Order: sequence, then structure tokens, then C-alpha cells
Amino acid sequence: MRRTYDLYIDGRPEKPASGEYFDTDNPYTGEVWARIARGNAADVERAVAAATRALPAWNALKPADRGRLLLKLADLIDHNAEALAAAEVRDNGKLYTEMLPQVRLAADWYRYYAGLADKIEGSVIPTGKANMFTFTRHEPLGVVALITPWNSPLLLLSHKLATALAAGNAVIVKPSEFASASTLEFAELFALAGIPPGVVNVVTGFGGEAGAALVAHPNIAKVAFTGSEAGGRKINEAAAREFKHVALEMGGKSPNIVFDDADLDAAVVGAIAGIFAAGGQTCIAGSRLLLQKTIHDRFVDQLVEMAGSARIGDPMQASTHVGPIATPPQYEKVLQYIDIARREGARCVLGGGPYTGPGARGGRFVAPTIFTGVHNQMRIAREEVFGPVLSVIAFDTEEEAFQIANDTPYGLAAGVWTSDIGRALRASERLQAGTVWVNTYRLGGASTPFGGYKHSGIGREGGVEAIKEWVHTKTVWICGKPDTNFPFVMRS
Ligand code: NAD
Repeated sequence: MRRTYDLYIDGRPEKPASGEYFDTDNPYTGEVWARIARGNAADVERAVAAATRALPAWNALKPADRGRLLLKLADLIDHNAEALAAAEVRDNGKLYTEMLPQVRLAADWYRYYAGLADKIEGSVIPTGKANMFTFTRHEPLGVVALITPWNSPLLLLSHKLATALAAGNAVIVKPSEFASASTLEFAELFALAGIPPGVVNVVTGFGGEAGAALVAHPNIAKVAFTGSEAGGRKINEAAAREFKHVALEMGGKSPNIVFDDADLDAAVVGAIAGIFAAGGQTCIAGSRLLLQKTIHDRFVDQLVEMAGSARIGDPMQASTHVGPIATPPQYEKVLQYIDIARREGARCVLGGGPYTGPGARGGRFVAPTIFTGVHNQMRIAREEVFGPVLSVIAFDTEEEAFQIANDTPYGLAAGVWTSDIGRALRASERLQAGTVWVNTYRLGGASTPFGGYKHSGIGREGGVEAIKEWVHTKTVWICGKPDTNFPFVMRS
């Protein structure tokens, strides 16, 4: 039976002003399993009004009490983790064995920022001026918009929401039109946690409609977005017109570099984790594998063997290694890039097309695909595919590896496999990426800042410093002795 999901405004489900709903399908079966409310500018207006009404009381709450509510929300996420993860799998086809830990990890973000809610401290500044007491205080930005993609809906929402709420902001969430269900199920927990109505609202719908209306709304103080470079560019341009704060988490073409002094068995596992986990539908995919020429051939053989044995099929089964591609446009895009790579002269050594074998059912599957003979100027090495397609690039020297790694418009993450600590340190300095992993790949958490260089993004999520991205800093000058100085020039 198809489930119908409404908007969530002012603490309750609300019908969309348009009266319209759109279908969402299950990438594994191809079947429509739910209808989602098609929000528009009128719904955005209602949501912003509700958040604006809720803001003063939310701000007036003791910070430690806001923290307590976030802790309750975290516990509720834990209690409902299986159902939330199953909704994500139905929507985006990623493995349940990945989505369940992701939902649990999302709960940790609320715990982390619950603890920080009453530690957003200003400072006393020694200005050296007599009779002057100068300090900073931090104030919430106001009503903020959080716009999320389909690939990890609740975890990526929590990167923003936990921080925004701890800092005292009220929020409108716009989830992806391809995966809205888990966010709406999550919204049912806000009231149970005791979060007052209107503090968090969810307006579902399309990017160019509900999303654009949200970004353009004059009462929105900040837009925090995770998604594609194209979406981020539009949002950045629209937000700039009203000088809104913007945070952008976008795509990547992350290098995963294997030197010949590495533990090669571990590096093979790391290369697989970099590209075939989540079917490559992850912003931090290590989609460019840089191999030192001395180990290239044997490494590729080992990689092909392991990737070629991956079990493809039902994302709900614990034994499945690779699930389907989440959305129809994404499926077409991945197949187009495989064609492009072939036309560019790359050599396909594994996969190279749709997977229709055992376990495929009606799903949109692409076989794990590896191209060798890639050079860094090919489109397959420069553009984000967001699917299970790996480009292998050979290099000779450390210097050449760093040069190739940085020669990209992106800079989200990088992996380095080496047993030389000096090389690991040099890599951490030289690589232009928000995260560098050495002898591991694809790790993160609430306590570690995450974000991109260059076209991968603006701003950081996670860690203590991220809370400052959700507040104004106000400087206050209090003169202990009323100021009667000569008024026609600035005091030095
Ligand atoms: P997308 O840009 O198509 O959509 C993301 C969100 O933005 C959706 O909610 C969409 O409705 C909305 N949107 C699109 N256009 C808009 C507009 N003009 N105004 C307002 N909202 C708009 O991205 P996607 O396909 O859902 O996600 C995949 C992309 O996300 C990949 O590029 C991936 O690398 C990136 N991503 C980045 C990170 C990160 O943390 N850096 C994490 C996950 C995914």
C-alpha cells in the first residue's frame, strides 16, 4: 500500500497548498511506494511564519535546556533507527547495513551539539583602552534553511540541524524530492522530544519550486546546502542577492593514492571502500585511484578480483555488497559516463554497463566498473560520476602523485596509503582537500570538521568550531566613564 507523506509545519502534518503529491519509487523494485507533498512558495511562507513565531521562545530557553531536548531527540532516533533506516533504503536503495549505522551516527550529532549548546562563549577583549570593557557575545542567526540531497538524507540533515538548533536557530528543512520519507518520519519525533512547534519545519517538493522559494525568502538568514555543484551554484547566486549566509557541501573527485611502500592488501580494501561502498553514491567517493607504476598491474589484478566478487542485489539483505542506483536520472548519468570513458580511450577491466544478473530484480543496477589507462585530463577523471565507476591513474613519483591529486576543480577528501610517516605528513600538508585519510578511508563523525576546498564547498560541519557558523558575533564596548572626548575624530 502506498503511504502518503504531508508537509510538517508548526508541529503537525499539513497538506500542501497546491493539493498535489508526487510519487517516489523504490530503486530496487522500481515500484512507487509513497506519495510526497509537493510544497511551493505558499507552503514556504507558512513554514517561515511558523519558525519566526517560534524563534523568540526558543531563543529564551536556557541553552542547557535546548541541549536536553537534543539529547532526547538523539535517544528517540536510536529507538526508531531501524524504521528510519528502512525508509531510507526504500527511497534511495543504499544498503541497510550502511543506512542503519548512519542513522545511529546521526543521533551522535545531536548528543555532541547538545553538549555544546551552553558553551557558545564570547570573550573579553583586551583593547588597551582605559575605562573600557569590551566583549563579544554570540546570537542565533534567526530562521535558517537546510537543503539536503538524496544519498544520506538523515545523516546529512543532522550535520546541519544539530548545530543550528544548539545555537538557537529555528529551521525549515527541504529534503531531496528523491528521498523525503525518512525526513518526514524523523519529523514525527520532534514533538516527542519536546521541541516546540515551529522550531523545525519540513517543506518537501522540487528544488526549483519549494527549494528556490525558500532560498529567496527574505526572512531566511542562512542557507545550508548539501548537493551537486550545479545546485550549489544556483543557491549561492540566489542567496547572494540578499546577502544571506551560505554554507555549501558539494561534490568531489577525490584521489585515493597508493604508494608502493603501502600495505597493499589493506589498500585494496581501501580502494573498494572508496568507490564501491554505497555504489559510489557518496560525495567522498575515492573515484580517482592513483597507483604507483611499480605496483600498478598486480594491484589492479587484486582489485578486479575483489570488486568482481561483490554480491549485487537487494539492499535490505545483509549479504549484499552493492545496491542499485538511487534515481532514474542518476542511473542514466552513470551509464553515459561509462560511454564517455570508453570514447576517451580508457580501458574497461571490470563491469562497464548495467547489471542484470542474479539479484537484479527490477532495480537500476550498474555493475562495479573499473577503467585503467585514465589520464587526469579525461572527463572521467575530472567530473563527478556519483556511481560505482573507478578511474585508475598511474604515476611515478610522490611529487607527480600530489600534482595529479590537486589538479581537479574539487577538494573534498583524499586518501593516502603508505608506510612512510614522513610521506604521510607531506601528503597532509600538500593535498588540497577538507579531509585527508592515511591508511584508511571514509571515516567521519560529529567531532571532526568536514567540508571542501574549491568547488567542493564553503564552510565546515562538525567539531567545536562549526557552531560559530550558526551565530552572529556581536562586539560590545562599555565605557565605564561616560565618553567626553573630542567628537570630530575617531578615538585611537
Ligand atoms: P542536487 O543539487 O540535485 O539536490 C540537492 C538538494 O537541493 C535537493 O533537495 C534539491 O531539491 C535542492 N535544489 C536543487 N536545486 C535547487 C535550487 N535551485 N534551489 C533550492 N534548492 C535546490 O543534488 P543531489 O543529486 O540530490 O545530490 C547528489 C550531490 O550531492 C552529489 O554531487 C554529491 O557529491 C553531493 N553531496 C555532497 C556531500 C558533501 O557533504 N559535500 C554529501 C552528499 C552528497
